[in-house]
Amino acid sequence: MALTGIQIFKMTPKKNCKECGSPTCMAFSMKVAQGAVDISACPYMSEDALAQLSEATAPPMKTIKIGTGDNEYSLGGETVLYRHEKTFVSKTRYAAAVCSCMDDATVDAKLAAVSAVDYERIGERMFTELVYVNFAKDTDASKYVEIVKKAAATGRTLVLGCKCPETAKAALEVCKDGKPVLNGADASNYEEMSKIAAEAGVVLGVSGASLDELYDTVAALEKLGNKNLVLDVTMGTVKDTFEAAVAVRRAAIKDGDRTFGYPSIVNLVPLADGDKAMEEALAAAFTMKYGSIVVVSEMDYAMALPLYGLRQNLFTDPQKPMKVAPGIYPLNGADENSICLTTVDFALTYFLVSGELERSGVPCNLLISDAGGLSVLTAWAAGKLSSTSVAKFIAEQVEDKIKSRKLIIPGKVAVLKGDIEAKLPGWEVIVAPLEAVQLVKFLKDMQAN
Ligand code: SF4
Repeated sequence: MALTGIQIFKMTPKKNCKECGSPTCMAFSMKVAQGAVDISACPYMSEDALAQLSEATAPPMKTIKIGTGDNEYSLGGETVLYRHEKTFVSKTRYAAAVCSCMDDATVDAKLAAVSAVDYERIGERMFTELVYVNFAKDTDASKYVEIVKKAAATGRTLVLGCKCPETAKAALEVCKDGKPVLNGADASNYEEMSKIAAEAGVVLGVSGASLDELYDTVAALEKLGNKNLVLDVTMGTVKDTFEAAVAVRRAAIKDGDRTFGYPSIVNLVPLADGDKAMEEALAAAFTMKYGSIVVVSEMDYAMALPLYGLRQNLFTDPQKPMKVAPGIYPLNGADENSICLTTVDFALTYFLVSGELERSGVPCNLLISDAGGLSVLTAWAAGKLSSTSVAKFIAEQVEDKIKSRKLIIPGKVAVLKGDIEAKLPGWEVIVAPLEAVQLVKFLKDMQAN
């Protein structure tokens, strides 16, 4: 059970020395109880207290790491059920599936398609991070190992869906350096699979025919000393899988039951059964509830664009505005004589506007002033985007670097034009269209005239 701030306080050294960053030991204890600070931030805690508190104040769900280098991902570590309570910690990772039941051409095409989706949205790279390699019953083990080799060559982190110990062992031989997940333990084989995963130093995926069976198998694995686990909550139907995903998360977070305190895998391939639209809907549902790894049959742009947008919204910190740094952003080879445009520092606005400007091909300087990370109209209503803020930013940070004296302002704040011109003598202020998408034609027309 989680400890209260008072219980934690009783074990602190009570020096009130502030070295932990809190003004008093009591304030520190309260923060530790809320999960805002780690107990190790106090350098004076006795070993005894540290041992007791580390266990008691650890997040209810373990953080499990998979992959290596640039392809290392953290799963789990969540502390809340709902995103409005606190920020979710480890974003859902998507895996594209291949299977030993597929012919070579299909496997090759699916692996080639893994890199097809790769783009940036609001400063974050969106791509398929994982490949799920399924070993189907009654298929050839050596063919499976060949597919694992090919999948490893994509550079993506692998999840091996394999319940046969011998085959799993052979597959790990060719990919264990990339720290894949071995998703293959169940009630019938967990001892052997745990040994294989531990020897290879990889995370073990555990499944069960029911929640009770899953629970008992996890408890048995923990008894064996294996706590490097992810839970495959995929059941026979969508309804049962959904219930399992929610029940596992609730048990860990609300009831403090550490046996279910692990990240989860949801495999949509058997659940959607070839229905692409259903698979997309389920991928969205299990991104929200509570798949750490969601396996899909393939990832294309039609699925990725809404799904990654949803994930980005879900896993950003609502208390931190998504901002870009104020400054001058030259686009399309702009120099000091190129026309200037200004907008706010809200990241979504910046990336939308800069994307359209790049599309126009017209050299221009995008001037970003500090508007509190708010959108244009919100910043204007809050007084963060005003003729004064724009004029001050340009006078202090732009005029000595840029010779052009033409400034395009967002169409939604056309009302600022007169005031900016009054405050910035020598500048011609031009009002842009209302929507960013209209900027391409607007700039090209300006350039032509
Ligand atoms: Fe108290 Fe330790 Fe923080 Fe010092 S560093 S104020 S002793 S909790």
